[in-house]
Amino acid sequence: MKRRLRLEEVSDPAVLRAMQAVPREEFVPRFLRDAAYDDRALPIDCGQTISQPAVVAYMTEKLRLAPGQRVLEVGTGSGYQAAVLAEIVREVYSIERIPALAQTAAARLARLGYGNVHVRTGDGAQGWPEAAPFDAIMVTAATAKVPPALLAQLGTGGRLILPEGGPHEEQVLVLLERKTPTDIVRTTLWAVRFVPLLPG
Ligand code: SAH
Repeated sequence: MKRRLRLEEVSDPAVLRAMQAVPREEFVPRFLRDAAYDDRALPIDCGQTISQPAVVAYMTEKLRLAPGQRVLEVGTGSGYQAAVLAEIVREVYSIERIPALAQTAAARLARLGYGNVHVRTGDGAQGWPEAAPFDAIMVTAATAKVPPALLAQLGTGGRLILPEGGPHEEQVLVLLERKTPTDIVRTTLWAVRFVPLLPG
């Protein structure tokens, strides 16, 4: 459980193709460009981080995405994870709590041609009700409990992945699969470290 995730554990060709396609150096601060392809998280503005590529790939793979789908991401940050999702699915909706990050990420994604990513500033724990239901939901900030609004916006057959745990606790990746409207199957995956989901 404690072992560090490595990119080699990811085998879904669509995910590997997406990881190849997205230029990570465009999403990291200029002074860290030389480290852009290291397999580690890096700092971005506002005290936030861009996730480790292996974790991005792993979480993306666990959603078992298909081309026509619509996905919600909570925690846009740099926009990197949103771009990886946008390489695979039809539409990505991404919510960021910090306005400056949302603006920078939206401009960057537009410049790189990701016209299928929609970025909004707000509290991601509320989801994006007008665009629901989603085929998949990914939360990229840690929370002690699964936000109920997100679960409500997950379509039948859909998958939600998030790092569960308080800011000073061990966090674990949790996968929730909505098998039927009322039947949700929970799987516990890797131990991880994410920045906390900020209160709305
Ligand atoms: N997915 C990002 C990394 C996310 S770091 C990337 O690929 O770069 C987590 C992000 O979640 C931070 O940018 C943080 O500001 C944002 N965040 C924290 N609390 C939030 C909330 N309640 N709603 C939306 N975003 C939030």
